[in-house]
Amino acid sequence: MSDLTALPVTELQAALASGETSAVEVTRAHLDRIATEDGDLGAYLHVTADAALQRAGEIDAAGTAGTGLAGIPVALKDVFVTEGVPTTSGSRILEGWRPPYSATVASRLHDAGTVLLGKTNMDEFAMGSSTENSAYRVTRNPWDRDRIPGGSSGGSSAAVAGRLAPFALGTDTGGSIRQPAAVTGLVGHKPTYGSVSRYGLIAFSSSLDQAGPMARTVMDAALLHEAIGGHDPRDSTSIDTRVLAVVEAARRGAGGDLSGLRVGVVRELGGEGAGEGYDTGVLERFAEAVALLEAAGADVREVSCPAFDLALPAYYLIAPSEASSNLARFEGMRFGIRVGDDGSRDIDEVMALTREQGFGPEVKRRIILGTYALSAGYYDAYYGQAQKVRTLISRDFSAAFDGVDVLVSPTSPTVAWPIGARVDDPLAMYAADLCTLPASLAGVPAISVPCGLSEGLPVGLQVMAPALADDRCYRVAAAVEAALGAPLTDRLLERAA
Ligand code: GLN
Repeated sequence: MSDLTALPVTELQAALASGETSAVEVTRAHLDRIATEDGDLGAYLHVTADAALQRAGEIDAAGTAGTGLAGIPVALKDVFVTEGVPTTSGSRILEGWRPPYSATVASRLHDAGTVLLGKTNMDEFAMGSSTENSAYRVTRNPWDRDRIPGGSSGGSSAAVAGRLAPFALGTDTGGSIRQPAAVTGLVGHKPTYGSVSRYGLIAFSSSLDQAGPMARTVMDAALLHEAIGGHDPRDSTSIDTRVLAVVEAARRGAGGDLSGLRVGVVRELGGEGAGEGYDTGVLERFAEAVALLEAAGADVREVSCPAFDLALPAYYLIAPSEASSNLARFEGMRFGIRVGDDGSRDIDEVMALTREQGFGPEVKRRIILGTYALSAGYYDAYYGQAQKVRTLISRDFSAAFDGVDVLVSPTSPTVAWPIGARVDDPLAMYAADLCTLPASLAGVPAISVPCGLSEGLPVGLQVMAPALADDRCYRVAAAVEAALGAPLTDRLLERAA
């Protein structure tokens, strides 16, 4: 049997169902690869090796391996709480915390028979675009280990691209699934806001946070998406709707026929009106991807969304504002570390010391920014204005979707940059989110699918659709994947061979 870590989930399912391999074998193959590669790659914060082998053994004994996702290993970003398994959200302040319960998505994956390999590295509290804001370790991009794997779900992207997991969950507040997927040659989807449960997801910005799949193929992403999607009464923002039929859409798209589909190229994002900051190679791959959609029968036109130009400043007021409120719960009393509690200090001093030492610089920057934007006297000028911009962005989407079925843009304006290149320049780091922020602010679904290489590094195409039309993202992504041939990550394999 060929290297089990190289197979897409669909082929693992077939190999498990036919008895050609077992859940234990598949799990062991991934654990072995983690053991040899992760010291350098840095994808995981915690590997649940023993529990994984035990779970895989149970699946084999039950004879269900290969049915649905039973027996397929998976990795979870460390932002998802997992009962009894260390969960840090990439922060010192939660070091040593073992949650007493599991996120709904984690429970659903467990019930589906998947095998948890471990928890992946991330920017602290999901704030960042390179995973360098993790309090714990550097994560490297498998395509070039001197470069960042994107962020904040960079542990998940490195794990899947590096074959240390068949697929993984990430979360996306302003691009944290799509951008790391783009720069590591993966498929990553941010579902419609409210269509995947946020229960047990450590909150960053509650009106934006959404969990979603990261995988090497569109179909693998769709399988993971359907396993986690659907209504959850424990999440007050959960939409009471059926699980979106994205697997069927991926299958349909793989046929390669997009005739009748109306595609809008966003003028402000990689179209004619795109500003500075885009790599030439990214714009070239994007133009080729658009030509490919046309060749598949799509009706392509340019669409203008003027308010998208304001997405970056609006997001960097709204997200920190919500974060400053959400992060108030970390005061050293109930979870994680407590600093200076030696009897000589009062409780306020202990809380202050804990937060001083528990939070990293980017998190502190956001708390300060958000507290300022929400303070009386500045609220209208900052937070209030940003909310108005958010409404304008939603209106741009609505107007655009009157005329087209999906919108497309590059996912990230650049390819993966060298580790360290942007750590001292927060604005340069924020600029990585240029193309992903509009869909986040409007709550609409968006996927990133590989569309080629520039300078030998992956480039992603972003496909955005109206709320609850996630199936369109998958259909178009599958058509692009079919037209381009084998997944981009197969080239990584060839190179490694
Ligand atoms: N890079 C963005 C930020 O730093 C988005 C992060 C995310 O989606 N979690 O806020």
